Amino acid sequence: MSPRPFYELAAGVFVLDIPMFPLYVIRGQRNAMIDCAVLAKAGEIETNLSALLGDERLAMVLLTHSHYDHAGACSLLQEKSAFQIIASRRTRDILENDKAVAFIDDLNQKFKALANDRSDSVFTKPRDIRAVGENDRIPLSPARYLEVHETPGHTRCSISFLLRPENILFAGDAAGVVEKSGRVKPLFLSSYSQYEASLGKLLGLEAEVLALAHNTAVRGKDRVREFLAASLAETRRLKEQIIDRLGQSVDFTGIAEKILEEEYSSPALMGPREALMINVTAMVKSVYHEFVKIP
Ligand SMILES: [Zn+2]
Repeated sequence: MSPRPFYELAAGVFVLDIPMFPLYVIRGQRNAMIDCAVLAKAGEIETNLSALLGDERLAMVLLTHSHYDHAGACSLLQEKSAFQIIASRRTRDILENDKAVAFIDDLNQKFKALANDRSDSVFTKPRDIRAVGENDRIPLSPARYLEVHETPGHTRCSISFLLRPENILFAGDAAGVVEKSGRVKPLFLSSYSQYEASLGKLLGLEAEVLALAHNTAVRGKDRVREFLAASLAETRRLKEQIIDRLGQSVDFTGIAEKILEEEYSSPALMGPREALMINVTAMVKSVYHEFVKIP
């Protein structure tokens, strides 16, 4: 269990203090939570959430993308408090697809095994998903709303939410993932080019706070800008490294194993090695298709 159930990040914006998976809750006329972490954390989320909200209910959960470690707890939590899920169209399509639901459950079961969670909890198809897209506004209170920005590249389904008027940015994994060392690691799983463009778009939003999906939040406009610039630099560095290796051979798995060992040896979050290999292999393939392959 976490030492404290939650803390306040900014006025009315709270963080459920769950190791590796901080979850952001915005309180207002309609209480909203960003992402849901893994299924193994469902109990802890529920406890911390009721410590924060008391008798109030959670009206909506906004998903930044469909990954197992962001959507994993949502169906179980939804059974207990019937919130609406707000997500991109692609995320909605994925969560309504039986095969994808089974895959998300499978990774969550593997995570549970690593976390010694022997409960019989399962990820099932979530209900009541509303799709949103670029520039849509989600009202929370008369003076407050979330603005939707499509930020693909980490996945095709990735979106970010900007809380107005405070300019607090919830970017999911589109801004990169911070390791415990503090270094930011790129994760361009669906497209390098789109990921790079999305980072540029996030920089242009000039957020005051960058609320990351794993481990930490970055406060202050200058620090947010520095963080995103460093993320962009790391992204370009990894691309060059992959291009170099692809010049020697096009063995995607072999290259992915080397990169996993050298670059992702202290990953931001504990998780099945299988999930890490899928991720790194996807990055190698993306660079291959976008920069190396001769059409
Ligand atoms: Zn992700």
